[in-house]
Amino acid sequence: MGKINYLWDLQCIDTREKSLWRELENLGIKKEITELESRLGQKRREFMELSRRLQEGERAIRKKEGEAGENERKQLELEKRLYSGQTSSARELSQIQRKIATLKEKGKELEEKILALMLEQEALEKEQEKLTVVLRELEAELDKKQAVYAREAGELEQELELLPAEREKLLPMVEEKWLDLYQRLSVINKGQAVAAVRGDLCLGCRISLPTNLVSQIITNDRLQTCPNCGRILYYQGTK
Ligand SMILES: [Zn+2]
Repeated sequence: MGKINYLWDLQCIDTREKSLWRELENLGIKKEITELESRLGQKRREFMELSRRLQEGERAIRKKEGEAGENERKQLELEKRLYSGQTSSARELSQIQRKIATLKEKGKELEEKILALMLEQEALEKEQEKLTVVLRELEAELDKKQAVYAREAGELEQELELLPAEREKLLPMVEEKWLDLYQRLSVINKGQAVAAVRGDLCLGCRISLPTNLVSQIITNDRLQTCPNCGRILYYQGTK
């Protein structure tokens, strides 16, 4: 195996590494997870908003119940006075009766208000129950997708982990100045420092190479670069 073979292998590893990273970033499931998380976030916010409204409703009901209790207490007090026989003045009695009637009216209004609030609460609770089901479904879906992601990403990550060791094995096989050139060309040519040659064709830039140059690279032991694209030439055979 010629020394250029090692550079070629090195390029294969580096290319594979880049493509694995790209695959990791572009895993379709990752996008699905992001979308699902955003939907879940929205539903969770809706749930919190419902909880807040339920608490607010609860407070409003308690307040009205307090008012109703106070109203009833006043009414009972007046009724007690009315029937106690302590008051004999007809004017005063009719005044008390009027007050009682007003309080009764207010009591009825309060009851109606409380009932309306309770119905509202019931509707909110039902909405929250439905939302709880939706949340559970979304969470279960997210769990599933995350498991898929872990599996898919896991395979890619596993392969990625093996690459540095393979790379390390190749480095001592190649002279340092060749490696330097490889790195420089790799930066310039977006990872394509080495170009394969088939027959007399440089596959880096698709020009025909002079016959004497091709004859020099056939063993892949000498470092030659393409006169046109400047890449290191790696001879792959005639076809
Ligand atoms: Zn070329």
